Amino acid sequence: MKISTEGVKSFIPNQEIERLLSEQQNAPASRIRDIIAKSLDKQRLNPDETAALINVKDPDLRQMIMDGAHELKERIYGNRIVLFAPLYVGNECINDCVYCGFRISNSECHRSTLSHDELVAETRALVETGHKRLIMVYGEHPMYDARFIADTVQTVYDTKYKKGEIRRVNINAAPMDIEGYRIVKSVGIGTYQIFQETYHQPSYEKLHPRGPKSSFLWRLDGLDRAMKAGIDDLGIGALMGLYDWRFEVMGLLYHTIHLEDTFGVGPHTISFPRIEPANGTDFTEHPPFGVSDEDFKLLVASIRLSVPYTGMILTAREPIAIRNEVLRFGVSQIDAGSSIGVGDYSHKDDESRKKSQFVLGDTRSLDEVIYELAIGGYIPSFCTSCYRAGRTGEHFMEFAIPGFVKRFCTPNALLTFAEYLYDFSSEKTLKAGLELIDRELSKVEDPQMLTAVQEKLQQMKTGTRDLFF
Ligand code: SAM
Ligand code: SF4
Repeated sequence: MKISTEGVKSFIPNQEIERLLSEQQNAPASRIRDIIAKSLDKQRLNPDETAALINVKDPDLRQMIMDGAHELKERIYGNRIVLFAPLYVGNECINDCVYCGFRISNSECHRSTLSHDELVAETRALVETGHKRLIMVYGEHPMYDARFIADTVQTVYDTKYKKGEIRRVNINAAPMDIEGYRIVKSVGIGTYQIFQETYHQPSYEKLHPRGPKSSFLWRLDGLDRAMKAGIDDLGIGALMGLYDWRFEVMGLLYHTIHLEDTFGVGPHTISFPRIEPANGTDFTEHPPFGVSDEDFKLLVASIRLSVPYTGMILTAREPIAIRNEVLRFGVSQIDAGSSIGVGDYSHKDDESRKKSQFVLGDTRSLDEVIYELAIGGYIPSFCTSCYRAGRTGEHFMEFAIPGFVKRFCTPNALLTFAEYLYDFSSEKTLKAGLELIDRELSKVEDPQMLTAVQEKLQQMKTGTRDLFF
């Protein structure tokens, strides 16, 4: 693969962002209210509006923004939370990202790449706990080229085990050239995710001193190339703590606007991980722009309001209390029961930390997370139906098509949740889950829809699997 940035220009207007961040201070309550109303009216915000939100310091106004994000989530998306797990395939890496436990200069990292049999074992271990959706994660190394990634994804799809299988694989890997993306697309991936890490180019260049990732523009253009290869299901993200988080939120918004303007479709998901401690990686002990919990809540709520149509991913990097709190502000997907050491699902040992990219904040099992979601009134969902029925851009459809959530998303969430309960859950979770399903059914207004869901749930109870609308 040849890295070329010929003709590529940055669409991140540094000076304009700095100007907006300094101008849009102390917005009065009336303006914040208007901005929230615009978002509730399903319109993406403009940069000056997002800047006004993320600059709010007054606790009452911050609360208003968080309440607005909560209302938007409830009104448009309801109470489903999609669950997935990360699957680390290999931690060889030729880059030197200063914050990452896998960086080439980290001599404390134990390197490995899953063999075919180990990958099958990892997949089986995940299937056995009930997972249906994965994100496969790779370091950047010539070994992990497009063919390798495609082959490993295919291995996962081909692995059927006991009562389950993985039905959707998303990817988090280095940016590719257009030909590479075509190869990966051909095996039926879901979302291709690339985090820009920081949208602030001077900081980016300092923090990525070596390897292909040192080119800010190659990475920034990475999702454009994916689009050109026909992958329109894309995830953007920024690693919070490398530079001022407000600048990063603006960067995410400008990236969104760029994709909308250039390809007519924005990102499918936005991720906003905070830096976590990593083995042998002093930088992570004191990130230069660490984000406090209070700011993190405003950050999540502001992203929700700024791009109301996109999915939002919150990972197990965050501790349980924060996860529970920000779920309310519009998060749509979380991982659960996650291990981030290469080979850890099937073979956990004391060396796990040295094989891992960083340390997780939430180490609950999938069943524990599901139990807590259920008693908290959220419907855990493993739905993959839009992707498999060829309805791409599902998050956008949920957002844009009136009644879509009631017709497809909620019923499919309930069906996949029931499937989990019958096949994989503990007694405690089964009880809490069935009660939740009953409560949700009592809310279905359309009698035909209610009958259709009840019929499918009955079929599920008697052993039919993989039912969806
Ligand atoms: N190697 C590929 C790349 O860098 O794009 C893909 C996977 S990388 C393993 C996944 C993401 O983990 C990175 O994009 C980065 O944002 C995040 N990450 C790296 N170190 C981290 C840390 N210490 N804490 C939290 N997230 C981290
Ligand atoms: Fe390698 Fe990705 Fe880690 Fe950077 S973030 S060192 S590219 S695995």
